[in-house]
Amino acid sequence: LFYLIEPISELMEAATQYQVGSAAIARIQEAERLETETLTAPSGTGSGPAAVVFEDVTFHYRDDLPPVHQGVSFTVPGAGTTAFVGPSGAGKTTVFGLIERFYEATGGRVLVDGKDVRDWPLADLRASIGYVEQDAPVLAGTLRENLVFGAPDADDEQITQVLVRARLDALVERLPDGLETVVGHRGSKLSGGERQRVAIARALLRRPRLLLLDEATSQLDAVNEMALRDMVAEVSREVTVLVVAHRLSTVTLADRIVVMDAGKVRAVGSHHELMAADPLYGELAATQFLASAPRASSDAP
Ligand code: ADP
Ligand code: MG
Repeated sequence: LFYLIEPISELMEAATQYQVGSAAIARIQEAERLETETLTAPSGTGSGPAAVVFEDVTFHYRDDLPPVHQGVSFTVPGAGTTAFVGPSGAGKTTVFGLIERFYEATGGRVLVDGKDVRDWPLADLRASIGYVEQDAPVLAGTLRENLVFGAPDADDEQITQVLVRARLDALVERLPDGLETVVGHRGSKLSGGERQRVAIARALLRRPRLLLLDEATSQLDAVNEMALRDMVAEVSREVTVLVVAHRLSTVTLADRIVVMDAGKVRAVGSHHELMAADPLYGELAATQFLASAPRASSDAP
């Protein structure tokens, strides 16, 4: 635990620097608190990809604020990729906060693996989920420390596997001291795509049954974008992947797309179905997805 204190304060610092919202800070504090709890090994996490169901979920962050979710329902079977798309403020990130039980639904139910999240021991629920925040900051310290944060028992073989899976093996070879290279805001600079994949690798090392990926909005170069798409496709064979998607490449690979707007689910379908049936989806495809199309050049660190 002692070892974790410094990285967490660094992360808090980074969070402030990156102007991450209060929700992210709350999550970090919660993670800090849970570090003590999870010293007792989680008991009932189950195995295999976890299904996720929202049943008529309503939610508001504060009593004096209007509801953010107004009857959200969807079903995600185990495995595969489900993309959440919609205008900014639609309530996509809030879906993830409710799944992780950073917040609790005011009405309706959120089920993970058929069980209401309120009936899950919190440590078990969190141990089952890998959460990659939007623009997840890289922690100060070495690349290895960044990876094993949350999975301190990971051995070299597991680390190597995850590096290959997250398409980071080439990066490790390129870095002057490999895994022992100091990264983060005072160390070697990583590109946006690399930072995102480090965060995903960190989540995967904990062997989650459910991966929640809030896709970074920053532009990625074509190589990074392809790496992300291929990795998500591969991972989703064994882990249920939910991704808040801003890129056409992520959206089109999804097994299903949930279109959200103003706290409601508008439509669920494939890219082709939605292009034909949902005008908002067509608009998002033309503006948001297109605006995030990969650049030919490398994304700047
Ligand atoms: P999206 O991810 O689709 O852009 P969010 O789920 O982040 O949308 O936010 C939905 C709505 O909830 C927005 O109006 C946002 O301002 C509000 N919101 C998000 N987080 C908080 C919070 N921690 N406290 C109060 N309001 C919030
Ligand atoms: Mg969001």
